[in-house]
Amino acid sequence: MIWIGRNLLRHCSLFGGVVSFSLLMMVGGCGASSQGRTVLPITIDPASLTLPGDGASLTTHDAAIRGIASILVKDLGLPVPEQVTVYVYASRPVFEQGLIQDAHVSPVRAAELSDFAIGIGKRRLMLFNDEAYEVKGREWLRLVAHELSHVSQIELAQGEGRAEQWLAEGMAEWVAFTVLERLGLDTMDHRRALARAGIKSHAALVAARLDLDTLGSPRGFTVRHLREGSLPTYQLAFLMADYVIKRDGFPKIVQYFASFAERQHRLDNFRRAFGQSLAEFEREILGHLKSITR
Ligand SMILES: [Zn+2]
Repeated sequence: MIWIGRNLLRHCSLFGGVVSFSLLMMVGGCGASSQGRTVLPITIDPASLTLPGDGASLTTHDAAIRGIASILVKDLGLPVPEQVTVYVYASRPVFEQGLIQDAHVSPVRAAELSDFAIGIGKRRLMLFNDEAYEVKGREWLRLVAHELSHVSQIELAQGEGRAEQWLAEGMAEWVAFTVLERLGLDTMDHRRALARAGIKSHAALVAARLDLDTLGSPRGFTVRHLREGSLPTYQLAFLMADYVIKRDGFPKIVQYFASFAERQHRLDNFRRAFGQSLAEFEREILGHLKSITR
């Protein structure tokens, strides 16, 4: 999932009717809720994946997902399902209805999510509120890469919301920034510097209490980012994932997510993958975060 500031969303004009994808199917004409809803069934053939040279050609959902999938599979060793259905909604109310009808989210949760989220990655599904990005540029590609990372995590774990949520979000950001760097649109070092600056006054860091157990559940993560600010909470998750990836290597994270296909025990799977308890990691990462934000 990825959020957007309410001001940005409010100031964006509506995106409607200018999509022209090769696999486009407009579903409309049978009521207000189906207008502004586009369904894109995308087939990703592993044999035909081609690494994109840069981001210039990745300006439609179809092209972006294929290009980013190539980077995930070929550069990062991540699995991507052969069939992904992408739902693109033209406005927040249509997005909210889509979360209920297409992603089977409860109406209460759909109202909450659609208020701050602009993208959701589910099992072989991606849902986007398209009014956030009229220009299909760098930040939009970051959003698509972030959500495709969640789709890949769900393939690895064979289910949704199983692994530590802060690590799922942090890894999705790490992958998205890696994709931007690969496309020549940004650098990891720049994103690290932004994140370090962004979390300096983050409540959890100031209080020296990250409470990773709460940040580890999807609900707890949502509560925390609504209370403590979306941007610094995602920046915190990114820096923690970045630390683990530097320390243990990216394949270890892949292995960790895959372990949930065998057994669904959050704390035990964490200990097995990283050789330490969550509490031990929390002490270690707090010291690291303090040192890099000093
Ligand atoms: Zn996310």
